[in-house]
This record gives sequence, structure tokens and C-alpha cells, in this order.
Amino acid sequence: MTTKKGKICLDPGHDRADYNRSPVVPEYCEGQRMWDLAVLLKTELESRGLEVVLTKNCVNQAVSLNARGKTSKGCALLLSLHSDAASREAPNWVSALHQVDDHCGEMDAKSKEIGTLLCEAVAQLMGVGTRMVARESSADRDGNGYRDDYYGVLRSAHTVGTPAVILEHGFHTNESCTRWLLEEENLQRLAQVEADVIDRWLQEQTTDSFREFVRQLQKAIGAAVDGIPGPETLGKTPTLSAAKNYRHPAVKLVQQRLHDLGYTQVGKADGIAGRKFTAGVKAYQKDHGCVIDGEITAGHKTWRCLLEME
Ligand SMILES: [Zn+2]
Repeated sequence: MTTKKGKICLDPGHDRADYNRSPVVPEYCEGQRMWDLAVLLKTELESRGLEVVLTKNCVNQAVSLNARGKTSKGCALLLSLHSDAASREAPNWVSALHQVDDHCGEMDAKSKEIGTLLCEAVAQLMGVGTRMVARESSADRDGNGYRDDYYGVLRSAHTVGTPAVILEHGFHTNESCTRWLLEEENLQRLAQVEADVIDRWLQEQTTDSFREFVRQLQKAIGAAVDGIPGPETLGKTPTLSAAKNYRHPAVKLVQQRLHDLGYTQVGKADGIAGRKFTAGVKAYQKDHGCVIDGEITAGHKTWRCLLEME
């Protein structure tokens, strides 16, 4: 079966190719090099079946931090690519700047989780240490009693519900680090390592959310709750459609599941199978070679696909 693997937003930091020229290796500019990395990383992610959007279309495009964050709407992650600077040459480590905990569900925890994974993998490749940073501003713009992110791109991604990370690939004020970043082979390896980390992270999330869907469904239909679909689960599945069982407790679970899989036509998970439910089910059926009738028939193919039994 086909599964939508998810969408990643890459943000090549800064507006111009010649932005942040290295004081120690003048041929290095953060603007150009992080654009180069974004292009390589896009290819690597796409070759792993992921969809990629960039926050800008060419290296010399000025885009506000707010617009960069907003571009990530609907993405599983916004990754902003940078190299760091210090007033002395010595500092050299990889840092991940992740979202502060705004007590708003899983987003900020995910930001910290993928930030940690990326930071460790990149630091290992570059042979340097790691720093994790979460910096809050003094403002609470959403008025929920918790301070917002200090960094604009993280804050803006937060407003559209996207976990976001700023990844600083060492320091372009450190000569050996800058020379390392200028090697084509190294940039290629960075792109591969980062793509692998992101791909694995998304796969784990996909597995977790599928198991949770199955557990909730099993509970709703009175099957043994183990998160693993089998004949008993399939045998107890109800027929769901706008005409039949349209308020069955499984409707809400299917709405949520279809939405998670990218079938946003299904709309809000309100537990009532109506016109949007039908549209979402039909789109899913079309992609999975089922009869396109907008009905999830008990024990039939659409259920088998949703339960990943074929
Ligand atoms: Zn930067």
C-alpha cells in the first residue's frame, strides 16, 4: 500500500549568498554554504520518499523570519540550516536551538527530540561536541501564560503548529571547521546523515501513531486491545459511512487517522461522518485501489488497508 511519508520544510538561513563571510576562511559564506546544504539535503530527503519545501526559491531571496516559519504549515518539521559565529576562534561545537516548552501538546517535545538527534549525529560526523539551546523571549503573544520562543523562525513555526529546529553546523569563525564545511564530500555526508536521522524519526512516529490508532479502534469495537491488527479486530470492524453508523465512536478515530495520513479533506475529527468524511474516505480509497464509494464496509478492503493488513 502507499503511505504518505510526510513533508519537511528546509530553511536555508539568511537572505544572501555573501551573508556572514568567514573572517578566517574568506571563501566561506554562511548564506551560500547553507543554501548548498539545503539543496543536497532536499535531494536526500526526496530520495527517501519525503516531500520537501524550501522557505526560499533561490540563494539571494530575502524572506522574513515570520514568512519562513509560516511556510512550514502542514510539515512534520522545519529545519533551519546555519553555521555559528563567535568573537574568538576557539569555539567549535554543533548546537540545536529547539522550541521552548509552551505547554501546547507534542510540538515542543518533538522539536527537542529531533533537535537532539540531529545535533548528536552531525556533531559525531564533524568530530565536535554538542549544545542544546532553548531560549525564551520575554513575551507571551498567545497569552497562554508561558513565554514564547526567542528565535523568530521557531516562534513563527510554532504559530502554525510545526516542530522546528535551528541547527548550527559548527562555527565559521573556527578555521578547521570552516575548511571542513567547504569540502564537497563533507557537505554531501552531512546531507545524508541528516536525511537518515529525519527519515528514521518520522518512521518511528508513524509506527507509534498507527499502533495508537489500532489500540483506540480495538477499544471502540470491543476487540482485544494490543495495538496489533488481526482477524479478530477486522472481524469486529463496523460499516461506517454518512448513511450507516455515522456517529459510531470509530468515526472519530478514522477521521483522525485519515488526517494524519494526509487526507485533510476529512476535516475536523468531530465524530460525525458527513460530507467531508465521505470526501476523505473516497480520496483514500482511490489511492489504495479500493471501490470508491465513500463507505468503509465492515471487514472489507478499506478496513484492511487502514489496518495495514494488505
Ligand atoms: Zn545563521
